[in-house]
Amino acid sequence: MGGGGLDCEVAVAGGGPVALTLALLLARAGVSVNVYEAEPGPGEDLRASTFHPPTLDMLDRLGLGAELVSQGLVCPHWQVRSHPSGDRAVFDLSVIAGETAHPYRLQCEQWKLSRLLLRELGAEPRARVVFGARACALAQEEDRAILGLEKAEGGDREEARALFVVGADGARSLVRKALDLPFEGLTYPETTLLATTTFPFEEHLEGLSNVTYCWKKDGNFALLKVPGRWRVSIYPREDVSIEDQMRPEAIDAALQDIVPRDGPYEVMEMRPYRVHQRIVPKYRSGRAVLAGDAAHVNSPSGGMGLNGGIHDAFALAEALIDILRKGAPLERLDLYERQRRPVAADQILAQADRNRARMRERDPAQRAEILADLKAITRDPERLKNHLLRSSMIEGLRIAANVT
Ligand SMILES: Cc1cc2nc3c(=O)[nH]c(=O)nc-3n(C[C@H](O)[C@H](O)[C@H](O)COP(=O)(O)OP(=O)(O)OC[C@H]3O[C@@H](n4cnc5c(N)ncnc54)[C@H](O)[C@@H]3O)c2cc1C
Repeated sequence: MGGGGLDCEVAVAGGGPVALTLALLLARAGVSVNVYEAEPGPGEDLRASTFHPPTLDMLDRLGLGAELVSQGLVCPHWQVRSHPSGDRAVFDLSVIAGETAHPYRLQCEQWKLSRLLLRELGAEPRARVVFGARACALAQEEDRAILGLEKAEGGDREEARALFVVGADGARSLVRKALDLPFEGLTYPETTLLATTTFPFEEHLEGLSNVTYCWKKDGNFALLKVPGRWRVSIYPREDVSIEDQMRPEAIDAALQDIVPRDGPYEVMEMRPYRVHQRIVPKYRSGRAVLAGDAAHVNSPSGGMGLNGGIHDAFALAEALIDILRKGAPLERLDLYERQRRPVAADQILAQADRNRARMRERDPAQRAEILADLKAITRDPERLKNHLLRSSMIEGLRIAANVT
């Protein structure tokens, strides 16, 4: 795009799923968009696996919902369970069938969505995705924002000049730091271990859902199925160092503790991760704006981080299109912030924190009380529907839609 010496209308730092969703929405609306990703190519990290109903509804609008669904596991129910008794509360998403075209959770690795988005972006003449380009600086002038870039292959530093810069560059966002925005919140003390195995837990644990959050004696774990394997989140013991718990024997012992078997478990992938709960005080500064993990991070418990980031991408695309194509003023971006920030703070971060706290409860009497309450919810159609509208992130989107 040559006009006024600009490289594109919108330059996006980061090439994760939030950036790619935003870029596709903009490109399809005729907006020229460049995406700059630090890594040399698309990754397949062990990260999100849960897509909630309204996110799938949104992906339908991009024509990608059905294809993503075909690559994942449709999970009509999820549960909170006491192990090894199997006592459980099962949440059946069919009660929200009237509210969404996808009354289920989709268990599917997030890189599969990124791959679909990259394919679609490849067919968009107004979109460019540049790998190996790390955003390293941000400057703003009255009519433009300029992203400084370091290329992986070396050479001189480059610049991308655009009308707007979006920081969708993840939890360690350069754009957020360049805007001098604090990332307020906390880091939880524990390191969580995520291991994958082909072991068929469903054949050994009666009535298991593909999304199951479990209490066990003195601890908890989660079993999340994706096609061909289970992802086991192991919340490690506090009396043993994390290095020791990452040893293959320790991972095997943690899995044997769930279902004892004769031989060792075959562990295919493993990663430790720290969990944070943080949010920026504001999403926009001048012509730069944040979305996804760059703006807010939360415990993966409940599977809401990526989903919330995709919801950001849809809201931000609408705001940018209003400005760039419909003559809305720059302040239209503040409506994006008013719509999305309270939902992130009050719904996503707060709910994820409650989910984490619930599963970390150790007192058997408290656990019994929580489980009894959860079961009571599952027996009461109205409470169940409300609970699922909230935990499936539909309520948050409805709140955001009413913000003007
Ligand atoms: C174990 C685990 C399980 C999870 N499970 C779920 C789940 O089930 N459901 C859910 O909704 N969420 C889940 N999450 C959260 C989810 O993975 C994140 O919320 C999601 O990846 C955020 O997407 P994003 O595009 O904002 O950021 P990212 O995916 O982090 O992408 C940011 C991109 O920016 C690039 N980048 C960074 N710095 C720069 C720079 N300076 N210049 C250019 N590029 C840069 C990075 O390389 C990266 O590709 C989970 C997270 C973890 C760790």
